[in-house]
Amino acid sequence: GKPVCECNTCYDGPDCSNYILDCPSDVNSGDPLFLEPFWMQNAASSALVVSGWHRMSYQFGDHTATSQELEKSIRKLHSIVGNAVTEGKYIVFGTGSTQLLNAAVLALSQDNSSTPSKVFVSIPFYPAYEEQTEFFATEDYEFYGDTSLYKNNSDDTMDMIEFVTSPNNPDGKLKRSVLKSPSAKAIHDHAYYWPHFTAIPSPSDEDLMIFTLSKLTGHAGVRFGWALVKDKAVYEKILTYTGENTFGVSKDTQLRALKLLNVALQGDGRSLFKYAHETMRNRWESLTETVSLSTRFTVQEIAPRFCTYFQNVRGPSPAYAWLKCEREEDELCYKVLEDGGILGRPGTRFGASSRYVRLSLIKTQDDFDQLLQHLKILVLQEAGGT
Ligand code: PMP
Repeated sequence: GKPVCECNTCYDGPDCSNYILDCPSDVNSGDPLFLEPFWMQNAASSALVVSGWHRMSYQFGDHTATSQELEKSIRKLHSIVGNAVTEGKYIVFGTGSTQLLNAAVLALSQDNSSTPSKVFVSIPFYPAYEEQTEFFATEDYEFYGDTSLYKNNSDDTMDMIEFVTSPNNPDGKLKRSVLKSPSAKAIHDHAYYWPHFTAIPSPSDEDLMIFTLSKLTGHAGVRFGWALVKDKAVYEKILTYTGENTFGVSKDTQLRALKLLNVALQGDGRSLFKYAHETMRNRWESLTETVSLSTRFTVQEIAPRFCTYFQNVRGPSPAYAWLKCEREEDELCYKVLEDGGILGRPGTRFGASSRYVRLSLIKTQDDFDQLLQHLKILVLQEAGGT
């Protein structure tokens, strides 16, 4: 008969149950499909139907009822989770947080200074900061590189912008800004600052914080992010950017984001956060159990911390494993894993050494199971001395 489903790349057959032997595990991308089963369980309450004549207008900004409701839901969610202070902050929406990252760089660099602001980030870092900053380069800013470059060059008048990713992509560590000069401004990317991926020790109260629906509900394809901004002038510059760039965020996107956030908010978020955290924690435990049998591979260590949301001390549950090949001869770690059927993302993409590879743990359960299966074989081979 005809296939009843679209099979995952490693399965075939009429009901997608035949595992294709030696199929490589693709754990390169950060596609957050681990949340798909949660939304299947909440299919009816999260469904959205929009009539053809609905919301046809260009009207955007904080003028529409949907935008106002959405803003309220976002503030409520942050206060329930305790991950960000929203009082005294403006909110700007973006087409994914991707749009807001560059909007923020431009907004912080436009200050009538004659020299371009230098954009810094600490290694290992999410590649889009460098890619975007160079792709959209203007005379207002330039990508400079790792924050350690600054320490050798302590010029307090230099206009600096630092990307701070907390928890960090790729290694899941909670981070703070390291550039302490009075002329340094920071963009805090909190894409992963949710109970799924980390303990929440305290609410972030930075001047410019960026969040995304992608890693919160898993709806990366909806393309919705938001910035919490303290300074009115910076807020207005970001708003100008999104206005010039896309004339605001799609109304369909906003409607869908609102619907999803309202399901997420039910029962003070317990059901989403419990599901997301347990899934990620179980994956991390299985992965580290396997890696602990190896001397060839190690993964990052994250200390347990008190989480104000769950009100307990909790262990790590990061979105990615930042795996290191320890053997002298395994300098090209990506290749070692590729030969073992695991397609990660090379450490060099994050400004780090080729001894590191990022493995995504947020894809589907099948993706994760295949990763683990290949990793177990690699570790067993090691014990066998091959
Ligand atoms: N920041 C970080 C640290 C990310 O990992 C990602 C997605 N991988 C983004 C921002 C962008 O996400 P989006 O545009 O989907 O909001």
